[in-house]
Amino acid sequence: MYKFFFLTLFLFAEFGLVLVHSAEVNLYTHRHYPSDQDLFDEFTAKTGIKVNVVKAKASQLLQRLELEGEKTPADLFITSDVAMLHKAREKNLLQAIPEKSILNKVPLHLRDQNGQWVALTKRARVMVYNEKFVKKSELSNLEALADSKWKGRILVRSSTNEYNQSLVASMIAHHGKDKAMSWCEALVKNFARTPKGNDRDQMRAVIAGEGDIAIVNSYYLGKLLTGDEKDQKIGKQLSIFWPNQDGYGAHVNVSGAGLTKHSKNKAQALKLLEFLLSEKAQKSLADSNHEYPVVKGVSASDLVSSWGDFKADELPLSKLGELNKEAVKIMDYAGWK
Ligand code: FE
Repeated sequence: MYKFFFLTLFLFAEFGLVLVHSAEVNLYTHRHYPSDQDLFDEFTAKTGIKVNVVKAKASQLLQRLELEGEKTPADLFITSDVAMLHKAREKNLLQAIPEKSILNKVPLHLRDQNGQWVALTKRARVMVYNEKFVKKSELSNLEALADSKWKGRILVRSSTNEYNQSLVASMIAHHGKDKAMSWCEALVKNFARTPKGNDRDQMRAVIAGEGDIAIVNSYYLGKLLTGDEKDQKIGKQLSIFWPNQDGYGAHVNVSGAGLTKHSKNKAQALKLLEFLLSEKAQKSLADSNHEYPVVKGVSASDLVSSWGDFKADELPLSKLGELNKEAVKIMDYAGWK
């Protein structure tokens, strides 16, 4: 009898152990920061749930999700732009996050209206300039950069970039197609050069004298300021300007996570999402990339806070996804390379 009892206990303990070991969650992610891995390790230590990470460009991951269909191992799809999350939703690759407690942590405009994705961090698209050549008083909103006084002075990356596509989508949302189109056309005429390079390259080009104002995501200034000696020197000569403060606020974008339609580890995925929206994880996700947390009450890093407070556009981000195709078309017509 005792033997049977101990045998049962032993089997249960073994089986239980197997259960703990097999608990896992699979991520397809475009975020690629070493500190994200530290967070995942912390989550595993806390919950016993292993986090498997596949890193690639969001467009490649999206394609993979489509090809794999029901067989996909992915539970969460993490991107660094809202348009890709929206695309995944449109292609029926996501499902609603069933936990209200998770959804409610993220402001309504920073998550999908049907709860299929939530933002994890927030960033603004801002103007960066050199005070030697541009006075702060000359700057106001992004719309004003279409004025011919800026001819040959604006630096911005290519129209293939999702951040710019989302920015133009926001112009359509606020002003309609026609006005967004004429804004794009006028802006392109003011370009300092044919778009090339990434956001950091635009700021480097300001200091190299190729143009006067770079349109970039706020965190890239943080990356310059904490980069190599050369970049730090460049970063220190630049100033940040929050556009559209008298109106609807600065255009923001997010990195975010969607629950995949065919998730096999849904409970674990939800646990990870809940963890990523905890105060500590929010701080780490935001600070590591000089971004803003999305959960209320969590503060930005000292460096990011030193840039001052700003009014953020509260346009529902799903709108940017809906208008993405139109935005790409407009940029193309306008000759934005
Ligand atoms: Fe980026």
